[in-house]
Parts: sequence; C-alpha cells; structure tokens
Amino acid sequence: MVNTKNIAILRGDYIGPEIMDAGLAVLAAAAKKSSFSYQTIDYPFGGAAIDQTGTPLPIATIEGCQAADAVLLSAIGGPKWDQASKRPEAGLLEIRNKLGLFANIRPTKINSILAKRSPIKAEVIAGTDFVIVRELTSGIYFGKPRNQTATAAIDASTYTVEEIERIVRVGFKMSQHRKQHVTIVDKANVLATSKLWRQVAAKVAQDYPEITLDYCYVDAAAMKIISQPTFFDVIITANLFGDILSDEASVLTGSLGTIPSMSAGSTGPNLYEPIHGSAPDIAGKGIADPISMIQSIEMMLRESFQENQLADQIAQAVQKTIAAGILTPDLGGTATTQTVTTEIIRNLEG
Ligand code: ATP
Ligand code: MG
Repeated sequence: MVNTKNIAILRGDYIGPEIMDAGLAVLAAAAKKSSFSYQTIDYPFGGAAIDQTGTPLPIATIEGCQAADAVLLSAIGGPKWDQASKRPEAGLLEIRNKLGLFANIRPTKINSILAKRSPIKAEVIAGTDFVIVRELTSGIYFGKPRNQTATAAIDASTYTVEEIERIVRVGFKMSQHRKQHVTIVDKANVLATSKLWRQVAAKVAQDYPEITLDYCYVDAAAMKIISQPTFFDVIITANLFGDILSDEASVLTGSLGTIPSMSAGSTGPNLYEPIHGSAPDIAGKGIADPISMIQSIEMMLRESFQENQLADQIAQAVQKTIAAGILTPDLGGTATTQTVTTEIIRNLEG
C-alpha cells in the first residue's frame, strides 16, 4: 500500500508564494521519478490569512498543520500589516506553540562556488558545515517575572532539566549522522542555567559514547564561528544565545536567500522554512532566490521522510545550476526565479 505523506503548505506573504511555487515545482519533478507519494494542502496563514479571515492563524490552519506529516512555511509579514491589531508574526509564535516546536535547527554549510560571496576569507570558511540547535520555548524570552518600574527592570531566565534534556537529545541525534561532535554553548562561568545545561548534557552524552562532547562559552563561540567555523559540527544552545549565533552564522555563507531551517517537537510534524523574511523590496519582480525554499524541502525530505536519495538528487540539481552560473541577483546573477527553477528541474530530469 502506498503511504501518502500529507504536507501542509503555508504560502506566506510578498515573495513567500513566489518561492513556494518554485519549491513545489521542484518537489513534484523530483518525486515523479521516485516512489515518494505526497499530497499538499494549502492553509491561510500570516498576512494573507489576516486579509481573508481577520486573524493570522485561523483554527482550520492549526488543525490542518497538526494533522499533517510536515509543514512547509514560506516567509510571512511585511509593511502591509504594520497597523493590524494582530500582526502576522503573532501567528508564527502561536503555531510553534500549537505544534510544540521546541527546537530550531539552522544549517550553515559553505557552498564551494558561492564561497566568494562570504565576508570571511575563503581559506577560513572552506569545508564549514555545522548546525545550530536552538532551544525555542523557554529561557530568558519566556521567564517570569518580567517587569519594569521607573528605576529598574527584570527579565528572569528559567530552564528545567526536562527542557534541557529534550533539546540536547535532538542535537546528539543529529550529530550521529554527521561528524559526531557536539558543542554546548553557554555562559557557565556566570549563569546558573548554564551550569545545569552542562550537567544535563554530560548525562545525556553517556547514551552517545561515539560522540565527542565539548563546551564553549558563548563569547568565545561568537569569535570561533568567524575565526574557525570548521571546528563545529552540532552546536546546542539556549534560546537567547541561539538567536544571536544563528544570525551571526547565516552571514558566513554570504547568501541569505539560500538558507533553510527546521523546527522540531517531540510529537507531531516538523516545520520547515527559509530563514529570511518576506523581502517586500523585491516582491512581484520575479527575482526572489528560490534556493532557500528548495533546500527547506530537501531538509524536509531528509529529516521527516528519510528520503535521502531524493534529497541528494535535489541537492545535486541545485549545485549544478549554481555551477552553471544560473543565479538570481542576490547571488550576483541576472536570472529570474523562474529561470533558476526551470534549470533545477531540467537538471533533475536530465
Ligand atoms: P524579517 O524581519 O521578516 O526577517 P528582514 O528585515 O530581516 O525581515 P528580509 O525579508 O529577510 O528582511 O530581507 C533582507 C534582505 O534580503 C532584503 O533586501 C531582501 O530583498 C533580501 N532577501 C531575502 N530573501 C531573499 C531571497 N529569497 N531572494 C533574494 N533576496 C532576498
Ligand atoms: Mg530578519
């Protein structure tokens, strides 16, 4: 019996739908030649959902995503909804919450051909391939108390053993099929939460004897990501540190328009999305880089569906297209979204 996978599609705003169309066309072309069977269902979300229904996250969208095997999201929000009573981004926090997504995973992989676009020297970044596993639902962003008086303000940071253990396990599992090296990034010389992170990580590590575990203070890690990025394989870190370091890491690649991400929970579907925003400045011009969405789909095939062969084929077709110099303007080329997409599909079929 064919096991058809259900993919919930949240098309996004501004360039969101443009790159979603491109990504889905590539997925359809790749799947055609394989036994991978899937169906997509669109749900309103973000600014488009505010326009249609008055709210960024309608109940039907929540239910559709919860019932899906994976959720594909394109960038949402933008100036059109700046004055809305509930902004599109509010829907993002809520959907993460409803799907129990506590881990955000962002890869930083240097593409040998695009490496010249990086602000860092080629010899420093050559071979860089790491992921940041960021805790998403706790820490200082959610701690209580939080308040401000005329003379002082307070933000509390809390982590429970359970919250730390589940995120640390996500990172160790990822490292198993990578370079088997986990780095916990923290501030354990100062923070009590960081000391607890180290204790929990050391305990989890006993279940993964093949994996090397080390620790790095966040200030040192911020330098090392720039000065010696090849040191890292899997970085596991708290919400605030992960927020800052993943933006820092995205600069290494020199191409915001190519980077995917995944958010994972313990049960239910993972959510995959490009790391960039909805790019209102280039929307409607047909020049958005579709690679971030295509690589988000590649990540979905690997992590949610174990379709590694299919993912490899897409990766090769993308790499061939980049090597041929068929690039959108953000990567220094003159090609349109459509031209890049057509070429990737041609490489897949060829
Ligand atoms: P957000 O707050 O939603 O993250 P942002 O202010 O960080 O938004 P982005 O929308 O990510 O901004 O865009 C930053 C810059 O990168 C813009 O100039 C945008 O055009 C460009 N950009 C982002 N994504 C792409 C893409 N896929 N292709 C081409 N250019 C892109
Ligand atoms: Mg941004």
